[in-house]
Amino acid sequence: MSLDTIALLVVVAIVLAATLPIVAYQVRKDRKAKALLAEARTLGSHETASLHPLVDEGLCIGCGECVKGCPEQDVLTTIRNKAVVAHAVECVGHGICERVCPVGAITLVLGTEKRGAEIPRLNEFFETNVPGIYVVGELGGMGLIRNAVWQATQAIQHLAEGARRSSGTDVLIVGAGPAGLAAVLVAQQLRLSYRIIEQETLGGSILHYPRKKLVMTHPVELPGVGQMPFREVEKEPLLEFWLQTLGKKGIQVEEGVRLERVEQSGDRFVAHTSSGPIAAAHVVLALGRRGTPRRLETPGEELPKVAYRLLEPESYDGQRVLVVGGGSSALEAAMALAERPRSKVTLCHRRSEFSGARAALVQRVLMLEKEGMLQILREARVTSITPDRVHFDVAGQPAERENDFVFVLVGGVPPYELLKQCGVDLETRFGTPILRSA
Ligand SMILES: Cc1cc2nc3c(=O)[nH]c(=O)nc-3n(C[C@H](O)[C@H](O)[C@H](O)COP(=O)(O)OP(=O)(O)OC[C@H]3O[C@@H](n4cnc5c(N)ncnc54)[C@H](O)[C@@H]3O)c2cc1C
Repeated sequence: MSLDTIALLVVVAIVLAATLPIVAYQVRKDRKAKALLAEARTLGSHETASLHPLVDEGLCIGCGECVKGCPEQDVLTTIRNKAVVAHAVECVGHGICERVCPVGAITLVLGTEKRGAEIPRLNEFFETNVPGIYVVGELGGMGLIRNAVWQATQAIQHLAEGARRSSGTDVLIVGAGPAGLAAVLVAQQLRLSYRIIEQETLGGSILHYPRKKLVMTHPVELPGVGQMPFREVEKEPLLEFWLQTLGKKGIQVEEGVRLERVEQSGDRFVAHTSSGPIAAAHVVLALGRRGTPRRLETPGEELPKVAYRLLEPESYDGQRVLVVGGGSSALEAAMALAERPRSKVTLCHRRSEFSGARAALVQRVLMLEKEGMLQILREARVTSITPDRVHFDVAGQPAERENDFVFVLVGGVPPYELLKQCGVDLETRFGTPILRSA
């Protein structure tokens, strides 16, 4: 072998040694990304009518800055050096992907070409086509706590300047998430008379974040309070902050009160709620987009042991608990409960497979079932609930379980019908870019 050939072989060997690990890494990364995308497609979470990023493949250079920048999990990934949207439903609208993309290949949009997103028509003060009814926060199409606070401030300041006054309350605020809570603080600061109702307990979407979820928020000025004292905070101290703030201000949220419809009566509105009518000169709808928890419509569902949200799994140690549902929320709740000491947990799912939840979650739940920490009733439906039992139809056969608590986690009824009943005009967005406000 000549010296030249040996030199050539050495060069080839060095090049291969240097590039093969990179190629192998790239192949592994692409394989992982493809699996993520396949999972998202199976679950249908690759497409959402809510806020999500849209990638212009022609512009994308595959630098991955968007993937690194996104604080939420698995919204974006890269395949063959192009960014792709995986679990679009996980997007909450931070918009960091859009800001960090060096070539402007990402836009945050509402709706898709196929799936329209309904949002209310609003003017610059977040007033609807019905003068005196306002929509603030995520229901208007834009997510994030800082946007909710900013919009609520604009709306309440605007209605306070207006001449519309009547007997009864100046403003009824519906929903006690970030938008409703900011609205009530401004109303108090401007000396308006107000009432604030909430179908669940105060906190809104924040209550539903996973435990210890890190919440990112830009500096936000809370009316009459000052700046929110954090940029990054876990869910639990954030909720505590809201509670303390309202406590100091003496604001009472009427919890467990659901708005059913609003009608105009002379110069005021009458809001029909689950605890009776409320008359108000203005109504601020801060309902979010999650909607009202879907019910089973089963005899016994009105019993106090039935709930639509799990907050503190540790409160159910040693109890016999039923979780109804087959999506991620139901699986997460069943797991959290099954891991508590002496608990006896049953998961009731109407199908035989868990095709509506992430694969990792399903695997963990099936593992708990195998270990005997959780019982799963498949192709099952709750037929009635009594104080100490639940009755089922399991694949056509009657069954029953002793029971202390029931969690119904089967999704929500979106608030659009409610808006229509209030006379609010909606428009449909098919992938329209969202303009930032705050
Ligand atoms: C998992 C997750 C993570 C997130 N992370 C962040 C983050 O890190 N940073 C950030 O800024 N944002 C984050 N967001 C987004 C943020 O939580 C929302 O944009 C914000 O909560 C919207 O506030 P809102 O008040 O408009 O609606 P919501 O918070 O949804 O509150 C609406 C309230 O209205 C009530 N309601 C609805 N219908 C009725 C009715 N008919 N009668 C009475 N009450 C009713 C609901 O029960 C609810 O309490 C996240 C969202 C999710 C889901």
